[in-house]
Amino acid sequence: MVNLADYKEMIIGSRVIEPGNSEKFRTGDWRSQVPVIDKSICISCLSCWIDCPDNCIVVDEDGLVDVKTTHCKGCGICSQVCPKDAITMKEDIA
Ligand code: SF4
Ligand code: SF4
Repeated sequence: MVNLADYKEMIIGSRVIEPGNSEKFRTGDWRSQVPVIDKSICISCLSCWIDCPDNCIVVDEDGLVDVKTTHCKGCGICSQVCPKDAITMKEDIA
């Protein structure tokens, strides 16, 4: 259960007073689907990395891609742009 701030504790007008604070909000918590990458057919073209709107695709030193799910909203864009159909959207049961 998330503890929401009392209205008396909230900043008037909900102003953003701290740059980069969106990093703290786990927008992936309301995801219903999650991308699963089949690395055996991935050609490391990085289309998914370029097009993910939430910067959730990570690339290791070998150029292999993975998904960082903290902010992944399950939009499926990465799956749509993959030229090898290496990304499948699966129900997120975590
Ligand atoms: S499902 Fe959407 S948010 Fe998640 S990794 Fe793919 S493009 Fe990014
Ligand atoms: S778009 Fe598909 S083939 Fe390209 S890096 Fe991502 S998973 Fe691999």
